[in-house]
Amino acid sequence: MKKIYCDISATTPVNDEVINFMGTVHKNAFGNPSSVHKYGQESHIVIEKARIETANAINCHQEEIIFTASGTEANNIALEGFIEPGDHIISSTYEHPSVMNVLKNLEKKGALLTLIKPENDGKVCPKKIESNITKNTKLVSIMFANNELGSVNDIHKISKLTKKHNISLHVDAVQCVGKIPIDLNDLNIDLMSISAHKFYGPKGVGALFVRKGINLKTIINGGGQELNLRPGTENIAGIAGLGMAIKMATDNLKKNTNYIKSLENLFINGLNKNNINYILHIKDRVPGVFALGFPKIDGQSLLISLDLKGIAVSFGSACSSGTTKASQILLDAGIDNEIAKSTLRFSFGKIHSEDDINYIVEQLSIILKRLEKKTYA
Ligand code: PLP
Repeated sequence: MKKIYCDISATTPVNDEVINFMGTVHKNAFGNPSSVHKYGQESHIVIEKARIETANAINCHQEEIIFTASGTEANNIALEGFIEPGDHIISSTYEHPSVMNVLKNLEKKGALLTLIKPENDGKVCPKKIESNITKNTKLVSIMFANNELGSVNDIHKISKLTKKHNISLHVDAVQCVGKIPIDLNDLNIDLMSISAHKFYGPKGVGALFVRKGINLKTIINGGGQELNLRPGTENIAGIAGLGMAIKMATDNLKKNTNYIKSLENLFINGLNKNNINYILHIKDRVPGVFALGFPKIDGQSLLISLDLKGIAVSFGSACSSGTTKASQILLDAGIDNEIAKSTLRFSFGKIHSEDDINYIVEQLSIILKRLEKKTYA
């Protein structure tokens, strides 16, 4: 049976080159990067090379990159490290739990929180952000792209207005790096979180961009590594893997995007040709990400039927799946409850071939006919 992984938004397989490089680093650069001797210095050099690669990929200074243990940790360090009781934060209702749960904790500790719902196009309206600014507003935290919908926020516009009002901006860019060009010289972002496993790098390693002049307090206590913001002996091979993966992703961004867009067209044409009844919720999306509703179909049953044919997709995001309730994120974006329950996320990437897409369309068509019969029986 064919096996096709269509859950690129949840995580990606690791590039072969990255796996090989990480193996070499594990073998050869095992010294503690904080040690003064040659072994330590060799490991230190590996980390600093990755820092330069990361900074180059998003156009910032290498001193502005802090390596972390995940995108989750980067979000925690950014928010907990920046906000004090009494500060006002503006964010959205559809942030990832690694932002949302930190914000809720900060609220319990005395921060003031305003959460804005996304519009029907899946984006947070910049005007609504602006109209909620108060004299206490210290931070706006908005994700670049939403993990369930694939919608992309107008971070350029949002960053212009935060700058105008002298407010800092944190962006969870975990779903965007390697998929959409990000130029931190052009965007007035102050804090930005990324995660290696979303761009064909290893799991368990991320990074936080901290713009020069932004002061974060330490939330993890330890030996002072990573400017004392993420103490702990560094994951040298993981960091090296992140550096190589982000370089590969951004160097090949245009080529990969064009290829993925050609797969998207093939997919949509295939759905149309087979008269498949679907609703594409978001038009302006991260390349390759589709939140698709299948009217009158139970999303969970469709997901399981596809899985039995070797096709892996998601119901909601990976972190909220396992429930049968409609995703709150889809509901907040104005999607009707029944349609939300019929919605699956397909996410394609550079690993897919035209044959894969044709197989998915063929199986979808067969399965939907069967499930439709059950619905109307
Ligand atoms: N932010 C977003 C938007 C995500 O999609 C994810 C992971 O799914 C994260 C943060 C967390 O990243 P990590 O898995 O590296 O902790």
